[in-house]
Amino acid sequence: MNKCLCLLLAMFLLFPYRNMTQEEKTTKIFIDEAGQAQVVKELLSKAGEQDQTRIEKGVRQAACFWRAEDGTAEEFCEFCLNHYVVSPEKLDLLCQRLSANFETIGGHFNKMIQDLKRPLDLDMGEILPIDMMFGELDPGAHMVSDLFKSKIAFAVLLNFPYYTLAEKKVLAEKWSRKEWAYARVGDLYASRVPAEVYQKVAQALTGSEAYIADYNIYMGHLIDRQNNTYFPAQLKLISHWGLRDELKAHYGKAEEIVQQRVIYEVMKRIIRQEIPGHVINSSEYSWNPYDNTIWQNGKQVVATPEPNTRYQKFLNNFYALKEMDAYFPVLPSYILRRFSMDRELSEAEVERLFSDFISSQVVKETAKFISKRLNRKLEPFDIWYDGFKSRSAISGETLDKIVAEKYPTIESFEKDIAPILVKLGFAPQKAAFIASRITVDPARGAGHAWGAEMRSEKAHLRTRVPKNGMNYKGFNIAMHELGHNVEQVFTLYDVDYYMLKGVPNTAFTEAFAFVFQKRDLEVLGIKEDNPDKKHLMALDTLWAAYEIMGVSLVDMQTWNWLYAHPTASAEELKNAVVQIAIQIWNKYFAENFGLYDQPILAVYSHMIAYPLYLPDYPLGHVIEFQIEKFIEGKNLGTEMERMCVCGRIIPQLWMQNAVGSPISTKPLLQCAEEALQQVK
Ligand SMILES: [Zn+2]
Repeated sequence: MNKCLCLLLAMFLLFPYRNMTQEEKTTKIFIDEAGQAQVVKELLSKAGEQDQTRIEKGVRQAACFWRAEDGTAEEFCEFCLNHYVVSPEKLDLLCQRLSANFETIGGHFNKMIQDLKRPLDLDMGEILPIDMMFGELDPGAHMVSDLFKSKIAFAVLLNFPYYTLAEKKVLAEKWSRKEWAYARVGDLYASRVPAEVYQKVAQALTGSEAYIADYNIYMGHLIDRQNNTYFPAQLKLISHWGLRDELKAHYGKAEEIVQQRVIYEVMKRIIRQEIPGHVINSSEYSWNPYDNTIWQNGKQVVATPEPNTRYQKFLNNFYALKEMDAYFPVLPSYILRRFSMDRELSEAEVERLFSDFISSQVVKETAKFISKRLNRKLEPFDIWYDGFKSRSAISGETLDKIVAEKYPTIESFEKDIAPILVKLGFAPQKAAFIASRITVDPARGAGHAWGAEMRSEKAHLRTRVPKNGMNYKGFNIAMHELGHNVEQVFTLYDVDYYMLKGVPNTAFTEAFAFVFQKRDLEVLGIKEDNPDKKHLMALDTLWAAYEIMGVSLVDMQTWNWLYAHPTASAEELKNAVVQIAIQIWNKYFAENFGLYDQPILAVYSHMIAYPLYLPDYPLGHVIEFQIEKFIEGKNLGTEMERMCVCGRIIPQLWMQNAVGSPISTKPLLQCAEEALQQVK
């Protein structure tokens, strides 16, 4: 998970001249067509015909937001004449100045939010009510209105046109780097969404994130009908990440299917909201998830299910994000904004990519192959089959021991970042620089990476290191987060324009995170001399993509269902989510698994805490595979840097530059097909 997402949601869901209700658009435009035409005419006579497009777009954009309190029509005209920059050199200077100032503004707000959320994000004891209040506070919420009041936003609107995704796709090929930077200036800081609307979004997201961050299951307290326990007494796992990863860790031995089944029972109780409230984040009771009974000191206690909190949190996010719709006449739904604006890939494009992939013959064959390897029929949780990884050959205990000895503390992991990077192929100097820009903190949740927005600040890697040292699971996640952090450092420091810092969308940063995560054993110095490694990796990626595409489709359909049923109750939403998960299962999984009506695809906590984030993971898998294929036999450090310095241009162009072709599942499907023939 990349923490930046939440900031993006909270701070940058701002788009030029879309941010007004239809009513405002039609009734409150203060500078009418004639007024705009007059300004255009005067500017044209000043600047010349070659500026026509920019002048027309700029005046229209600025006029869209100009209100009575900003000045009279004459003052608008005067403002435009004074602030429209004719000379290319001066426009360049303006862009530089804006970039520097946006770095200051964005960088400090990012740091402020990061610091205020420390008690919520870091493992630093009790969360006080005041921590929640600070966590919900968005210090940047009023920035946009201030930028308008000071007329800075109008100067931006006037000089840097906004281009739609369709326009960007057409213009992308011929734009210079500078023109790209200008286009990104045109994307940002030009909206007039009321601060309280942003505040509500931040509040809802913080509430659901905090709910999930403390959603732990005490595994040692899980029992079956014979009162057997199956997990270490102290093992506490966060839902769903911890539960899923524990389930994956039990593929080494066939008899450990018992543990896997217990975990799946827990998951079903979570999804259906039947889980007793008493057992969430509490070790007071023993819980039998099979018959859903709870016990204390050998006596059965009445189990009350948690109310529909999980789905209420989802609804809270929906209400807050939907309220923004009114300010986006061109993209009047959160779904549209997530796809066409944030990802710069349409929902239909993404859905097609996923459904084609998961209904492919190769996926069917892989399911059969897994069943053969397991020597049993598939069970629903085999969507997390882990046996294509070389590490499954080594016991979990051995790996835990190696990792705990290597990283007894948070500090020991932080100190090892530069050596880790060198092991991955980064030049020592580069590795030292990157490491100097990353700091490691103890996470309350599973971990995340939170990059800096200005060059004076460091990126934060949050990870869990228990008292007796880091365990393998924690290390594996930390490697994932490190991939994010390295990308964040590269794209903040090495991209030529600040306005182009970052990657096209979160799927790209996930791709780099996966690249790192996959090399965890290499970093531990564990040699894998399996000649099938390459093929196993293809099958592993294919299976992971299959699973997470299914999960993403559930998330996407749920959002579509919510837009069709905006007044749904938490209970209705719960039923819809279960229904949708079962439908997707029955359509794409049931036949391959020989099992119908399974709700497992609805277990992801992202659906609750990170609205519509999930599709970035499968996109990440696909992109990662293309990147992996491309860097085969090349140096990871050099190639990652070369790809990252492209910055945040549109996804398909970035891919073209990075690997020589647009986003495609073909390489993965082909390699997996080949693997099925090679691996015995
Ligand atoms: Zn991630």
